[in-house]
Amino acid sequence: MSDCIFCKIVEGEIPSTIVYEDDAVVAFEDLNPQMPVHTLVVPKKHYDNIGDGIPDTELGAVFNAANKVAAMKGIAESGYRVIVNTNDDAQQSVHHLHVHVLGGAPMNSGSPALDEAD
Ligand code: AMP
Repeated sequence: MSDCIFCKIVEGEIPSTIVYEDDAVVAFEDLNPQMPVHTLVVPKKHYDNIGDGIPDTELGAVFNAANKVAAMKGIAESGYRVIVNTNDDAQQSVHHLHVHVLGGAPMNSGSPALDEAD
């Protein structure tokens, strides 16, 4: 059995607030939101990060789902960021590929929205 926390969320073994799901991905609310909207989109299949040889179809599914989440949350027009932290310098803390969908308020120009979270 995997120790990966996001695999457990995908499998429904630990609770989460799921906002979108399809054959390839699950989107759920971040436990520690950094913005009014802070949703994570993960592939159902485990990949450590974006450099883990992800097929184009699955990578596309993740980003298309991020766009759907933004529309569902009403931030597609006002604006949002999609952030993919990868490995140590980027402070990736959960090693199951995930994209952060962040929005609902103005963000600083060019500064990574999650910098102040750590
Ligand atoms: P990262 O630093 O990019 O690896 O982001 C991991 C994110 O996962 C953080 O924003 C955490 O708040 C979030 N997180 C960790 N555990 C959970 C959980 N059980 N449910 C929802 N979000 C989580």
